Amino acid sequence: MGLKYALVTGGSRGIGRAICFKFAEMGIPVIIGYHSNLAAAQEVCDSILQKGGSASVLKFDVSNKAEVESALNSWEQSHPDDYIAYLVNNAGVTRDNLMFMMTDEDWDSVIKTSVNGLFYVTRYLLPQMMARGRGGRIVNISSLSGLKGMAGQTNYCAAKAAIIGATRALAQETAARKVTVNAVAPGFITTDMTKDLPEEELKKMIPMKRFGKPEEVAELVGFLCSENAAYITGEVISINGGLF
Ligand code: NAP
Repeated sequence: MGLKYALVTGGSRGIGRAICFKFAEMGIPVIIGYHSNLAAAQEVCDSILQKGGSASVLKFDVSNKAEVESALNSWEQSHPDDYIAYLVNNAGVTRDNLMFMMTDEDWDSVIKTSVNGLFYVTRYLLPQMMARGRGGRIVNISSLSGLKGMAGQTNYCAAKAAIIGATRALAQETAARKVTVNAVAPGFITTDMTKDLPEEELKKMIPMKRFGKPEEVAELVGFLCSENAAYITGEVISINGGLF
């Protein structure tokens, strides 16, 4: 019987990086998906290998269907007995602007990365995940922005809300095959994505009075990917220090 692997898109930095470390801690071999930052992806990989875990890096732009399919196909060719049983659709970008000033590029890049990316990667992996009969876990990283809406982020809020709709629908398609599909909606988490925000001002609005840590999101994702979470599907779990 082959091994069950985890794939984390955007595993090179921030929340995805912490999720890669969590899978390694759970004893699951992890594929670190990245777009352009090989040095960061390799650092995550080396760190897991040094601790005795199993990891590799895989470069593809989630918004590019041909790249997604070619990268995942070459992984499958070199792992004929194994399959990707844990998928975290985490890759995402922001291009904030008020809608009346938003360019086509701002709109398209955010939607294509979050929504098309989720579609291309998940569609490719689903047949194996369902056919093997050994279960699967899909966790989609949405956002507080996708739940409540934030001025200056119509593109990002639309993308993150779409992820929630897709999660709830897909969960119903795959439940009978023991594949769960859930979404996680973080509030403000300390990563490159939030490094230019006015943290001192924003912290005052958060009941916990601090940003969250990537490791805190990774713990939740790890739980959703565990056997103990087998009956949770189609759910959206917020992790935001009380900020709604
Ligand atoms: P981050 O630090 O900016 O890291 C983004 C990651 O996504 C990087 O690994 C990057 O790869 C990858 N990526 C970006 N575009 C990609 C593409 N087209 N194809 C493949 N990979 C791509 O972001 P983060 O803060 O960790 O955010 C991770 C996820 O959590 C995102 O979906 C974000 O929307 C969501 N989120 C974040 C927060 C927050 O406060 N930070 C809150 C709610 C939700 P490279 O390293 O190769 O560039």
